[in-house]
Amino acid sequence: MNEPQVTVIGAGLAGSEAAWQLARRGIRVRLIEMRPVKMTEAHRTSDFAELVCSNSLRNDSMDTAVGVLKQEMRRLDSLVIASADRARVPAGSALAVDRNDFSRSITAALEQHPMVEIARAEACAIPSGMTILATGPLTSPALGESLNNLIGPRNLYFYDAIAPIVAADSVDMSVAFMASRYGKGGDDYINCPMTEAQYEAFVAAVVAAEKIELHAFEKPVYFEGCMPIEEMARRGPMTLAFGPMRPVGLSEPRSGHRPFAVVQLRQDDSAAHLYNMVGFQTKMTYPDQRRVLRMIPGLEHAEFVRLGSIHRNTFVDSPRLLLPTLQLKTRDDLFLSGQMVGVEGYVESASAGLLAGINAANLLMNRELVVPPPETAIGSLIAYITDSTRRDFQPMNANYGLMPDLKIRARGREKKIQMGNRALSAIDEWIQREQIGPPASMALSEVRL
Ligand SMILES: Cc1cc2nc3c(=O)[nH]c(=O)nc-3n(C[C@H](O)[C@H](O)[C@H](O)COP(=O)(O)OP(=O)(O)OC[C@H]3O[C@@H](n4cnc5c(N)ncnc54)[C@H](O)[C@@H]3O)c2cc1C
Repeated sequence: MNEPQVTVIGAGLAGSEAAWQLARRGIRVRLIEMRPVKMTEAHRTSDFAELVCSNSLRNDSMDTAVGVLKQEMRRLDSLVIASADRARVPAGSALAVDRNDFSRSITAALEQHPMVEIARAEACAIPSGMTILATGPLTSPALGESLNNLIGPRNLYFYDAIAPIVAADSVDMSVAFMASRYGKGGDDYINCPMTEAQYEAFVAAVVAAEKIELHAFEKPVYFEGCMPIEEMARRGPMTLAFGPMRPVGLSEPRSGHRPFAVVQLRQDDSAAHLYNMVGFQTKMTYPDQRRVLRMIPGLEHAEFVRLGSIHRNTFVDSPRLLLPTLQLKTRDDLFLSGQMVGVEGYVESASAGLLAGINAANLLMNRELVVPPPETAIGSLIAYITDSTRRDFQPMNANYGLMPDLKIRARGREKKIQMGNRALSAIDEWIQREQIGPPASMALSEVRL
């Protein structure tokens, strides 16, 4: 093979997708994957796009944004989604897969592609020349160091302590109220007030809730100042009331009294569709988070667009560093993709790889670089992570709250489906306008498994 034109580092969900998008456009790719020469703490095999935990790529219906994202990716000839469809196992409305069939299909497609050269080695430094970096949440320390040197230590994070995010229109504002502590800064926060009895019941439920065990490699996280609420609750019944749930400086406007405790929600997007729960990072299981957090007055019917988690994660401050094309602002031939750009989840990571692959190809072919429209699931996610006005950046899942509102009377599921249909029209129009999706040089159906 002649000299590769693009180096892709990391053959996970994002890197595999990026390599495929380049190769199908006739571009020579060098794909560098360190496994099995060097393993991460979570991967077990040498296959590409290994699913390190759940075998589900989550919901596949139009009432969720991640379902719409998959539809958009199918239209963009995604290798990851085509392989998932091929390896599908029954799981109701979710797209769950036989994880071995899924990863083998992706590995075979790339190994057999004439435009892809594979190197099994750890990349210890970011190379010069056109590169897509897709080494994921468990990027090897040597490469992390190289990235650190390039972008500066304040722009690279090594773990997530994520608090849940709630859809604003699902908060009961006849119970919650808008205010800032001591009236400073306007009525910026949504405040959910609690009586002493409600607080005690809540703390007991947090202590009793089922938790996800941290991996051994994630344990040092606590010492870095992101204590989960259940750990605070375990340390004493009043720890939360003196911590993130302290009521000082707030009075409930209807009674004029200071509540016993308060949960504060801070605006998370410029359209004020989303609010995050301040200081509520948690390792409770997802079902228990939904159950326990709905005990909070005002959140009884809350829709959680993202649930809380704490895990090791290498990601960059994308709002400050990246263009919406996923290029580094200071080096236009270096693209970042996957979980490290601050998207959260298998499908979201693959979608970032897909966009980086298209844009690296466009840059090589002297074509305009592209950004998907904000009405789409992929476009709204990319707009969120690269919004340069954002402070305190934390990773994000695809969700309907990121898309521009649809000014119609419908609510709930009906409205979401209409937003999903708008997203698919927008992606079709975009694909046609930008002439994305040239004829494939090799189809997945040609791959021998
Ligand atoms: C423990 C854990 C569990 C998770 N569980 C889920 C889940 O259940 N559901 C979900 O949706 N998301 C989950 N995630 C989040 C995330 O979606 C996945 O981690 C996803 O795989 C990220 O895709 P990626 O392509 O960015 O990274 P990865 O899929 O991790 O791919 C990165 C690749 O880069 C390679 N690599 C790293 N450093 C180097 C180097 N220096 N040189 C060469 N290769 C290198 C790695 O070996 C790996 O193959 C989990 C994350 C972690 C850490």
